[in-house]
Amino acid sequence: MSDHAANTAPAPLIDPFARRVSYLRVSVTDRCDFRCVYCMSENMSFLPKKELLTLEELDRLCTTFIGLGIRKLRITGGEPLVRKGIMTFFDRIGRHLATGALDELTLTTNGSQLARFAGPLFDAGIRRINLSLDTLDTAKFAEITRWGRLAQVLNGIDAAQAAGLRVKINAVALKGFNEDELFTLTEWCASRDMDLTWIEVMPMGDIGNESRLGQYWSLDSLRERLATRYTLTDLAERTGGPARYVRLGETGQKIGFITPLSHNFCESCNRVRMTCTGQLYMCLGQEDQADLRAPLRDHPADDAPLRAAIRNAIAAKPQGHDFDYSRQRPDGQMPRHMSHTGG
Ligand code: SAM
Ligand code: SF4
Repeated sequence: MSDHAANTAPAPLIDPFARRVSYLRVSVTDRCDFRCVYCMSENMSFLPKKELLTLEELDRLCTTFIGLGIRKLRITGGEPLVRKGIMTFFDRIGRHLATGALDELTLTTNGSQLARFAGPLFDAGIRRINLSLDTLDTAKFAEITRWGRLAQVLNGIDAAQAAGLRVKINAVALKGFNEDELFTLTEWCASRDMDLTWIEVMPMGDIGNESRLGQYWSLDSLRERLATRYTLTDLAERTGGPARYVRLGETGQKIGFITPLSHNFCESCNRVRMTCTGQLYMCLGQEDQADLRAPLRDHPADDAPLRAAIRNAIAAKPQGHDFDYSRQRPDGQMPRHMSHTGG
């Protein structure tokens, strides 16, 4: 089926709670060149390559979703930029920006490969990226990522900004780890004209000996501390996701809070997530999923079964997640890692 025919498929994707699904996150690999302690165990076993969707299959799936009204696509992982040949995918999928079928193509990355890819990503139509960085201290960076090198990521940020990409920093709030860098990180981001979003650590996957409760630093308390130095103005802006934003009067920058634990955000959720094997997760915090790889592979020349599978899946999108630390244990814990579903 041609793109044009797919794009004429009209009815939007609406879930049982009347939420319009217009945002797709796609994990293109479960592999990563880092081993962040809250995300992976040191000895991760990864999927056999044949399980992964090929770049062509990823393109066909994304194109089908776009034909069904997805307007924003975020590519994630694992580390998306370690997937072999990934620029071929970006170059091709960028055509939907040119036609106006897609509003935005974005990327979440650890930044390690950006020095190489920033220019080509801009050329493919990407204008904004989210970059994950929890600390500006070289030793702490090595500790938290296990395998990462801070200098390489900082070079990547330089390259991204030089290429014209707008960079937003995502930092996981970790008790006793980066609490003391709250102001340093804020000022550093402001000095580089970058917004900063804090994420509460979520109970995703077995991470070995690390304790979730030990890692949890509530963003309510982070926000209170921020308010001791800056004037915070709440912004009405909503992206249909978990983030809430404030503007800092003194620096002008936007600070986001992703608070799946201390505040629920599901009522306005507009997104679904696809794994690199073609499983569609309707909620990051629930097990409900639909296999899209079978209709994709069983019908190489007909997208109708794939579209039907997507519609059925959206019709089963759960109301929300059950993450809860309030009983002093990580309730609602998900067995899968964040790198599987994509952050
Ligand atoms: N490798 C890329 C990166 O690090 O940006 C993309 C994938 S990563 C899984 C996406 C985001 O998920 C990152 O910002 C990371 O910090 C976050 N993340 C991973 N595990 C998490 C957890 N258990 N709780 C909260 N955020 C987590
Ligand atoms: Fe890799 Fe991103 Fe997970 Fe860190 S958070 S291990 S960079 S996938």
